[in-house]
Amino acid sequence: MKPSETVLEIDLKALEHNYRYLASKVDDNVKKLAVIKAFAYGSDSVALAKKLESLGVDYFAVAYTQEGIDLRNGGITQPILVLHPQSTHFQEIIDQCLTPSIYSEFVLNHFIASAEANQQKNYPIHLKLNTGLNRLGFDPKEVPMIVEKLKQTSSIKVDGIFSHFAASEDVKEKEFTHHQMDTFKKVSDQLIENLGYRPLRHLCNTSGILNYPEAHLDMVRTGIGLYGYGNSKEVDQQLIPIGTLKTIISQIHNIKKGESVGYNRMFNASKDTKTATLPLGHADGINRIYGKQNTNVSIHGNLAPIIGNVCMDMIMVDITGIDCEEGDEVILFGKDKSAEVFAHNAGTISYELITSISQRVKRKIIP
Ligand SMILES: *Cc1c(COP(=O)(O)O)cnc(C)c1O
Repeated sequence: MKPSETVLEIDLKALEHNYRYLASKVDDNVKKLAVIKAFAYGSDSVALAKKLESLGVDYFAVAYTQEGIDLRNGGITQPILVLHPQSTHFQEIIDQCLTPSIYSEFVLNHFIASAEANQQKNYPIHLKLNTGLNRLGFDPKEVPMIVEKLKQTSSIKVDGIFSHFAASEDVKEKEFTHHQMDTFKKVSDQLIENLGYRPLRHLCNTSGILNYPEAHLDMVRTGIGLYGYGNSKEVDQQLIPIGTLKTIISQIHNIKKGESVGYNRMFNASKDTKTATLPLGHADGINRIYGKQNTNVSIHGNLAPIIGNVCMDMIMVDITGIDCEEGDEVILFGKDKSAEVFAHNAGTISYELITSISQRVKRKIIP
């Protein structure tokens, strides 16, 4: 059956394949955390979490508190790590049994105060260490301060200690990554010695899992790999993209040589040209960067460049020489047409493309 509108199909069998592939790369005793922030990288966080829970995922992570609340409302009962909580949401974090990442003295002070005000005992937190990304995390020099504050309260307990790689996908940065690993080991050992118990230590994202098996530690965190992209051609061949963005041809125009197409007359026909107008634009996440012939869509297996300026609700593509008609299916990216290539052609990455597909686009879950 032909599609009738723009839709992002999400294939849960592909998700299962990717999960099993990534799980096969780590020892059985290493816990698996699935990163499902930003609507599970632009897909559907509750549907994916349910599937991943059934596959045996131990932990979930989101970026912000509301994303964790959405998962709880969807019936997810596994631990959920909130990577970047703000102190204004600590009451909700406790009410919903979410696990905050504590990354600074300010956040530590405020969370202890919230936990004490709620009469909590041993409320689980993860400590985030900065080992070189310089984004979020305690400086190694702050360990004595952390230990001191933890000694003064029984309201919280360290369930995990983690850090994040800056360039785990880049072989040229091996030395830097090893330095991050060494720093993490040293600082987490120091913390564990002082705590007198062993929290979960975790360091690897998807590329870390694949490139640094010695850094798997107690748990690994995978995001992009679950969605079918592995930051390398070799890994991409092993994974299946879970999302396919499809639309249809709304209208076809025959443009004469010398005519222009779209806003600001950005495309100028140097010869007679056949164009198709498609019902999605920058309000759907197909940003202006993808226009001006920077990248292609696929129609019956033929590539058609996106021409001119991307509009809010529409794009126009060059279908000269392609046998197609109004109502026909158009693929932007998916299983047989890599989002990584679509993004790369326009100078960006799959992460940005897939997480940008806006909530206006209908999601269709394929079980
Ligand atoms: C987003 C994120 C991940 C997931 O990274 P991928 O490269 O998508 O696997 C892991 N850890 C942290 C802290 C993150 O912010």
